[in-house]
Amino acid sequence: MPDQIKYLLDEDQIPLTWYNFAADLPGLAPALHPGTGRPLSPGDLTAIMPDELAKQELTTEREIEIPGPVREIYAQWRPSPLFRARRLERALDTPARIYYKYEGGSPAGSHKPNTAIAQAYYNKEAGITRLATETGAGQWGSALSLAGALFGLDVKVFMVNVSYHQKPYRRVLMETYGATCTPSPSRETRAGREILAADPECSGSLGIATSEAIEVAMDDPTTNYAGGSVLNHVLLHQSVIGQEAIAQFGMAEDWPDIVVGCAGGGSNLGGLSFPFLGEHLRDGRTTRVIGAEPAACPTMTRGRLAYDFGDTAQLTPLLKMHTLGHGFIPPSLHAGGLRYHGMAPLVSAAVEQGLIEPVAVPQTDCFAAGLRFARAEGIVPAPESTHAIQVAVAEALRCREEGVSRSILFGLSGHGHFDLSAYEAYLGGTLANDPCDEDGMTAALAALPDVVGT
Ligand SMILES: *Cc1c(COP(=O)(O)O)cnc(C)c1O
Repeated sequence: MPDQIKYLLDEDQIPLTWYNFAADLPGLAPALHPGTGRPLSPGDLTAIMPDELAKQELTTEREIEIPGPVREIYAQWRPSPLFRARRLERALDTPARIYYKYEGGSPAGSHKPNTAIAQAYYNKEAGITRLATETGAGQWGSALSLAGALFGLDVKVFMVNVSYHQKPYRRVLMETYGATCTPSPSRETRAGREILAADPECSGSLGIATSEAIEVAMDDPTTNYAGGSVLNHVLLHQSVIGQEAIAQFGMAEDWPDIVVGCAGGGSNLGGLSFPFLGEHLRDGRTTRVIGAEPAACPTMTRGRLAYDFGDTAQLTPLLKMHTLGHGFIPPSLHAGGLRYHGMAPLVSAAVEQGLIEPVAVPQTDCFAAGLRFARAEGIVPAPESTHAIQVAVAEALRCREEGVSRSILFGLSGHGHFDLSAYEAYLGGTLANDPCDEDGMTAALAALPDVVGT
């Protein structure tokens, strides 16, 4: 067998439809209107997103057609390759069969363009001229900037203040694509000014940046909001990852016993695992799915499953999700894309129903696994992705101990070329495991909104 096997699909095997997990997952709690407390209708969302995306957010239809122009752009890097990591298997001396689905080949270097392209397309069709959004480490901001460039839309990005300073090249990338990037909290919005009045040194959070972006979208009829994770339609668009992976496992004549993804807001984890879980729910073809999150921002493992806001200023609908509280400001760990107080409602419900096992992993263990992976497979993983690698490696080592061969698939959600300063810190021995902010978490959980009947 060759050292590394690559399962490639043809361009015409890019899925024709997105797969909507809400069609198969029983008991999904509805999102609620923040004012009335009643289940959301599409009309409640159209102030900040086009009709088509508002519909996708709330539908339980199983398959949604992918528009031709979106598939055409996908074809620049999709179908993405599935690799069998033979060299990693050998380095770990494991009988496990390790596979990874690599999303770093997109122009922005992560899975995020899968939804950015779709959202830009529907907004362009609806006559919108500008998109506003938040970004943490900068991957979502760069993905949306890329999509804006391709569809001729202006893009305004509120970037979490710590990341804005930690990752200057991400900002340059966004500006290269023509977007405008502002550190958040900023003085440009009421939400930002309020936060700065209370704490002028505020390091920012995705929750705050989201409030700023939504405020801008609500105040300007030609500007819409675009979300990079958490929302149902985002996870829907990411389902191309898992659908392709199923076809590639067919080529490999294998099926994953275990699927692992890292989880910030849950979009790459959902995108990779939901098509497998759909087979599980419809046909009983079981797969164990593990969601890996940072120990410093332990949303699924230590958060509460409750209705909460997606942002600090309480502008979003109430979502039933695992949450650390919308006021929680996570420590500034390098895996910035995983610093979010909440989790996608679809992922949260799957965790609640035992379909996804959550695990929290410390940052230095993740970097150790990331280096091992880079040295065996050649790809330098994004810090976020190393959380999935860490869990996949641990499972492969367990196979060795138990003397069994399991098939393990993990999502390699992006490359780490813009994160070399984090690698530098790790290699130099200065990367710390930020403790979880226990007091901050307790306070934020105490401030969860009261929602009748939950
Ligand atoms: C944004 C990001 C994540 C985390 O976001 P999810 O919505 O949980 O997928 C993970 N990996 C990479 C490379 C990212 O850019």
